[in-house]
This record gives sequence, C-alpha cells and structure tokens, in this order.
Amino acid sequence: MTGKQLRAVAARLEVVYPCLHPVRVKLTKALGPHLRDDGEPLGCTWGDTRVVKTKGQEILEIRVNVGLDPIARFMVFVHEYAHAMSWRPGHQIDADVFDHSPEWGLAEARLWVYFADELNEGQIVRAF
Ligand SMILES: [Zn+2]
Repeated sequence: MTGKQLRAVAARLEVVYPCLHPVRVKLTKALGPHLRDDGEPLGCTWGDTRVVKTKGQEILEIRVNVGLDPIARFMVFVHEYAHAMSWRPGHQIDADVFDHSPEWGLAEARLWVYFADELNEGQIVRAF
C-alpha cells in the first residue's frame, strides 16, 4: 500500500478502534536500528510505533519502512496499529514499544478479524 492508502485505512480504524492519541502513519526510510542502552540492536527496522508531540498534542506515530513491498507494508502496519491500540498512559513518550503482550496480541487479532472479509474477497490485495 502507498502511504496515502495506509493513512486512509488508519482513518477507518480510528473510528472502529480508537487509540489513546490520534494516529499518524508515515512511510519512511529513516528507520534505523534501535539500540539498547548497551548498544545491542533491539527490535526490527520494518516499523515502529511511538508518541511524538506536534503543536503540543501527543500523537501515536506509526512508521513503516518504505523499502518493504506493498503487502509487507500492510502487514507491518497492522502489527504496529495493534501497538497503537494497546498503548496506555505511562509508556515512555519516545520509547518504541516492543512488548508483544497479551493485550497487544488481542488487538492484532481484532484487526485481522476486522480485515477478514476484505482479505477473503481480495479487496486488500487489489489495493496494492
Ligand atoms: Zn511489535
């Protein structure tokens, strides 16, 4: 999917599954490896979710690596939107969320069920 298509999907999801903050989606090349305090790589560079402040408002920013093929972009986006859905107060503002908690898993399952009909009918694939 293109960035425009992903943003349209995110806008639909925000109605059905609103998150703690408004969601913004970006395709980006700037997804460098995340490093732990000891310098070891953490997580992956396919995508991430974080809180950014824009004009004083906190926004959940989902970044998806533009180098992925269109179907992978959608799959990573769904994974990351589940992080946005399970984001709770107290997560560090600039911390990427790597916890794949039961709450996150339930959120991702809800998303795949939400998209099941469109996937079965090929609508999602035709959008690529
Ligand atoms: Zn994750």
